[in-house]
Amino acid sequence: MPLKLAIVGRPNVGKSTLFNRLAGKKLAIVDDQPGVTRDRRFAKGNLGDLELTLIDTAGFEDSHDESLESRMRQQTERAIEEAQVVLFLIDSREGITPGDEIFAQLLRLTDKPVILAANKAEGRQGDAGIAEAWSLGFGEPLPLSGEHGEGMAELYAALVAQE
Ligand code: GDP
Ligand code: MG
Repeated sequence: MPLKLAIVGRPNVGKSTLFNRLAGKKLAIVDDQPGVTRDRRFAKGNLGDLELTLIDTAGFEDSHDESLESRMRQQTERAIEEAQVVLFLIDSREGITPGDEIFAQLLRLTDKPVILAANKAEGRQGDAGIAEAWSLGFGEPLPLSGEHGEGMAELYAALVAQE
């Protein structure tokens, strides 16, 4: 069975970029239910020999009748329910923001394993943000670059450890 991995975090941290990288050529969306799962995308993917079912969270920027925060909360809670492992992304170049703190609070409520990843870490420009991310309370931040494909071996090791 593929490992169900939800990628969560505030807008613009690079969730979809990483989702697309892990989905690769297999981007064919699996069992997306229009209307019901509007805010989440599903795809099969892999990291080396590790098969994944990926869940991307998105879409709460165009909020209508619900507040941004409640939409974020709802879709993240659903993604967490569906997942076996949660990948919590922050933008290491931006450092920790109040938005990241909201996600951290939500993720503290789950018993599922949470891997904290400091994205956009290529070229050492994220070093300060990586150090800051320890404050979120999810242990050592995993430096990643979804765009450049860096940190994938470390991500693989972290995921296999949770399988
Ligand atoms: P999402 O809103 O969390 O899904 O974020 P996106 O995947 O849409 O990415 C937001 C922006 O960050 C885009 O301009 C991406 O090109 C950029 N981005 C994503 N991953 C990386 C990365 O690893 N390094 C850098 N420097 N930029 C990235
Ligand atoms: Mg996105």
